[in-house]
Amino acid sequence: MSKIKLLDKHLIDKIAAGEVVERPASVVKELVENSIDAGSTCLEIEIRNGGIDYIQVSDNGAGIEEEDLVMAFARHATSKLETEDDLFTLQSMGFRGEALSSIAAVSQVELCSNAGEGGNCIRVEGGQIVSCQAAPVPPGTTVIVRNLFYNTPARRKFLKSPVTEGNHVYETIVRLALSHPEISFCFRNEHRQVFMTSGNGDLREVVLALFGRDFSRRLIDINLQYGEIKLSGLIGRPDLTRKNRKGQIFIVNSRVVRNSMLSASLEDAYRDLLLSRERPVGIIFLNIPPGQVDVNVHPQKTEVRFHDEKTVYMAIKTAVRQELLRLADPVAAKESYSHSEQTPLPGKTSTSPYIADSNGYRERPLPSEDFLLLFDTYDDETPSFKVYGQWQNAYLICEIDGDLNIIDQHAAHERLLYNQLKENPAKGLSQELAVPVAVELPPDLLMLVESRLDYLSELGYRLDLLGERTVVVRSIPTIAVGGEIEALMEILDTWQEGLPTEEAILDSGLKILACKGAVKAGQRLEEREIIELISRWAVTENRNFCPHGRPVCYTINRTEIERLLKR
Ligand code: ADP
Ligand code: MG
Repeated sequence: MSKIKLLDKHLIDKIAAGEVVERPASVVKELVENSIDAGSTCLEIEIRNGGIDYIQVSDNGAGIEEEDLVMAFARHATSKLETEDDLFTLQSMGFRGEALSSIAAVSQVELCSNAGEGGNCIRVEGGQIVSCQAAPVPPGTTVIVRNLFYNTPARRKFLKSPVTEGNHVYETIVRLALSHPEISFCFRNEHRQVFMTSGNGDLREVVLALFGRDFSRRLIDINLQYGEIKLSGLIGRPDLTRKNRKGQIFIVNSRVVRNSMLSASLEDAYRDLLLSRERPVGIIFLNIPPGQVDVNVHPQKTEVRFHDEKTVYMAIKTAVRQELLRLADPVAAKESYSHSEQTPLPGKTSTSPYIADSNGYRERPLPSEDFLLLFDTYDDETPSFKVYGQWQNAYLICEIDGDLNIIDQHAAHERLLYNQLKENPAKGLSQELAVPVAVELPPDLLMLVESRLDYLSELGYRLDLLGERTVVVRSIPTIAVGGEIEALMEILDTWQEGLPTEEAILDSGLKILACKGAVKAGQRLEEREIIELISRWAVTENRNFCPHGRPVCYTINRTEIERLLKR
């Protein structure tokens, strides 16, 4: 029996009209949501040219029966909603019956499906059915969308570059994969796999597959039943923060939603733990009786309204606060849970070097942290020295073994870091970006990257190629934090000049990293930093020359001074 019916006019009016298809990412979202509604456990998504030329979503769901194929493309045709009352108790992602018809109106769609009784394929272009016939396809549904907005040039013009559109698609799939840990998502861009989640239901595993180990290690579990609201998910430790709210994902009844109150509740829970510009990270699932939320505010169904906002706010704040408190003091947390609202949390003591902004770029840690991060403890062989100070924020004036030294602070630090990098290749000196950064490169540089992926990984850069123009930077050398992309470009530029030996290739990269990581001329140093620097530099190999061969210090002894002053 046919399952798809037209909505009655009254109901259509109840559903706000609006555009569903704005860009490739919105197509992907609608198609994936259809697959989820069809009970799929495994999804494969592929895009080409940022999704503008080609989007494919394949699922292993229930499929569409032959007699429903044409109806599926009719406006306001849905199998998910029958009466007005359903609108308020709905569990499915879709229900407006708008997506397939809207997508097919502005592109060339091919949908093949097998609901168990043999397969069929239907082609719809610009809203017109071109063909519909039997075809041997596997169980489930595959939708291919080609040439988005091919017949509406004005809208096509508003699309951004393929890289930007591809990034939107990536972010959309990331959110969908996070909201459905029980479904395996495989995402390919231009035939290359970008990520794949296992679908075993474990949110932490999804996070691991998407963002890597370093990120997932800094998350803690939350779990709370608060009245009728069930809350679970992962939140960032106070040392995992971002400069925007992209790391805050709220999933209400399996749907990723936007709502400023939700962010406020999370941020209020961290209030005294973070610096003012830092935003906490959280992936929070809320299960709320469907009658108490309204998701039908916007055609893309990303906005929600809660009937009782205050309770939702308190549920999140309590759940988050409780775990942060436990983290700060496991014993006290137990005792004070009932009045956790009033319990002050210890403030943050240091800035983490692991802070990403929207581009995945970091704020540069303070120089003192560079030192703490990279230096070992004092050495027995450290010569005796006395620091007189810093001159013009560029030179360190000190006495070493009785001689006066004027040390170029940048060159000295550069030598030190270079020696250290040489001894200890990237292992342990690389860190994963909270959000991978896409960098567009000209084809020649891209080929260079492809041929030198191993060298780059030894330097601490883990990169994936994405399409013909883009590399996705996933891990970066810790030493270059804040200037990682700049350093990468400089390394590629140097390599383009052609370097003879394998050692020279690696070496040139290490030099650039050491230079990027070293304190600059013009940077004021605290006395303890100067002492740290000199004590390390004084015992390092080839200390008198920077890695590029320039002298590091000017030394003069008492006899020479006396001669100069004609004493
Ligand atoms: P809605 O999802 O709001 O119902 P759509 O236009 O997205 O509207 O889809 C129309 C109908 O096509 C759905 O109600 C469903 O019956 C069917 N359909 C679409 N995609 C799939 C799929 N991947 N698997 C099974 N059925 C699908
Ligand atoms: Mg739909």
